[in-house]
Amino acid sequence: MRFNCRACGAKATVTKNHRMSADYAELYISCREALCGHRWVESVGYSHELAPSQLPIKNSEVFKLFSRMAPAEREELVEQLKKELPLVMEVEQSGPKIVRRST
Ligand SMILES: [Zn+2]
Repeated sequence: MRFNCRACGAKATVTKNHRMSADYAELYISCREALCGHRWVESVGYSHELAPSQLPIKNSEVFKLFSRMAPAEREELVEQLKKELPLVMEVEQSGPKIVRRST
């Protein structure tokens, strides 16, 4: 990601990436023009998905997080998801697919 100085238009450098969460970071940026010296913070965050990943679900960040949870936490989460989400993942031989739950 490239930035230009908001004050003088010269190229700028990200000096620090302060990750606040998995979906949000604050970038500390400095103007490269020595005579300017402008420094500021930009917010970078996840907005929304345009196309789902085609990778197998086991390569996803969600799967990695899930696999690090304690078994009891996993079970609790699965039960919560069954109650709260209209869509669930079902694993079939051909791979996971999204189906609509019947209530
Ligand atoms: Zn500048």
